Amino acid sequence: MNISLSASTGEIHDCIFCRIVDGDEDGTFIYRNTKVSAFLDIHPLFEGHTLIVPNVHFADITDVPEEYIAEIARVTKIVSNMMIKSLGAEGINVMHSTGRPAGQTIFHFHVHVLPRRNGDDDGFQRWWFSRSHRATRQELDSLAEKMLR
Ligand code: AMP
Ligand code: ZN
Repeated sequence: MNISLSASTGEIHDCIFCRIVDGDEDGTFIYRNTKVSAFLDIHPLFEGHTLIVPNVHFADITDVPEEYIAEIARVTKIVSNMMIKSLGAEGINVMHSTGRPAGQTIFHFHVHVLPRRNGDDDGFQRWWFSRSHRATRQELDSLAEKMLR
């Protein structure tokens, strides 16, 4: 078993994304620098589905430092342009999950970049609009008050 040290907590753990970044497990990389890496998701939702990860272990958005968030945002733009230029993507979704209720399954921070094409799947949009509802201004204002406390 290959073990890694968490950059934030110093805990020892076994992590598939650390192994991929360290070259101990196969990964198909499309971008890499000293801070972050981008590789193709093994279960693509859409052709070209990419994950962008810090090269050191942070579990989720609560413990990844801002400098890594900034670098991941910068690389998200680079990867999006690659998808548009080389894969003919006509749209991009950027997604992230922190915590099990949000659907996180691998606890090494990552951002999903999904290339989208006209008519590729309207299930996502259908789900979004079936869930969303028009909030009242009062609801929004009292929520904002709670969040600013
Ligand atoms: P999440 O559910 O947001 O934690 O996403 C984890 C993602 O990692 C899923 O989309 C998986 O398909 C992907 N994944 C799991 N194992 C691998 C792997 N060995 N190589 C590439 N992607 C992986
Ligand atoms: Zn890791």
